[in-house]
Amino acid sequence: FDQLEGNIWLDGKIIPWNSAKVHIMTHALHYGTSVYEGIRSRNTTLFRAPLHYRRFQQSAAFLDFEVPYSISTLVNATQLLLDAGHYNFGYIRALAWCGSKSMVVSHRNSNVHTAIMIWERPMPYPPQIYQHGVTLHLASWRRPCPSSAPVHSKASGLYMISAMAKRRAELEGFDDAILLDTKDRIAEASSSNIFFVREGTLQTPFPHSFLKGLTRAFVLEQAKEEGIPVIENDIYMSDMPSMEACFLTGTAVGILPVASVRTAECLYQFKPDSITKRLQILHQKAFCIF
Ligand code: PMP
Repeated sequence: FDQLEGNIWLDGKIIPWNSAKVHIMTHALHYGTSVYEGIRSRNTTLFRAPLHYRRFQQSAAFLDFEVPYSISTLVNATQLLLDAGHYNFGYIRALAWCGSKSMVVSHRNSNVHTAIMIWERPMPYPPQIYQHGVTLHLASWRRPCPSSAPVHSKASGLYMISAMAKRRAELEGFDDAILLDTKDRIAEASSSNIFFVREGTLQTPFPHSFLKGLTRAFVLEQAKEEGIPVIENDIYMSDMPSMEACFLTGTAVGILPVASVRTAECLYQFKPDSITKRLQILHQKAFCIF
C-alpha cells in the first residue's frame, strides 16, 4: 500500500501517493487521536459522500477535535481524486489525526491533519459467499460500554478491538467475529452491523455500544419502503435458535449473509431468506455492485 500509483489529498494539497508521510512524533500514533471514514465509489460516482463526511466531523467532535474542512470541501476533494484516477470499485478512506506539534497526552494544542485516499477495493468475498454466507466466531473481546469509549465515533483507536477480534476469528478458521457488549447483548461484527430475520420481521440490535452504520440506515429505509417490519431491540445469544436468517451490513462488505455463528458451546446456522435476498438486490442496485 505504500507503493501505489495515484494521488492523495493531504491538508488541502494533492500530492503523489508515495509522498504522503507522517512523522514518528505524531500524536495519533502514540495516543490514538484519529478518526476515519470509508466511502464507496463506482467508476466516478461517489455514494452518500456528504453523509459520510458529516459522520467524519461528528467522529472528530466525539474526540474533542475538529476536522478543519467543510463537508463540501471534502466531497469536492474526493471527487477530484476520483475523476483523476481509474477506479472501478473504489474505496475512499478519509483520515483526520492529531499531528506532531504536541506530544503531551492532552491534544489541546495539537495540529489536526486531514487526508483522503482512494484505492481499488472490490467486494471482499467472492459471489458464492454473497449467496451462502460467511462464518462468524464469537469474540472474547466486548464492545466497550458508552461510558468507557466514544463508541458512536469511527475512532481509529476502537479498531484495536475489531482487529484483535477479527484476527482471532481468522486464526480459529472463521471469516469474521461477532462481538457482544458488556451487558451480553449482541453488538456487531468486526467492521459491520448485524441483522436477523425472524418470522418475516427484520431485527437489529439497538446501537447502545456501536456505530450506527450508514448501510444499516439504508437497510432500515429500504425495509420501510418495502413494508418489511423492523424491530431495533436488545438481542442475546439465547435468541439465536429462533433466528432464521442473519446478515451483515457495511460500506466495505455491502449486505453479506451469515451462514453460521460459532460459540464455545453451540453452532447456529442460518440460510439467506427472501428478505435478505431482496435487500441485497436493492443494495446492489443502489450502489452499482456487480
Ligand atoms: N461497525 C463498525 C465497527 C464499522 O467499522 C463499520 C464500517 N464503517 C460499520 C459498523 C458499518 O458502517 P457503515 O455501514 O457506515 O459502513
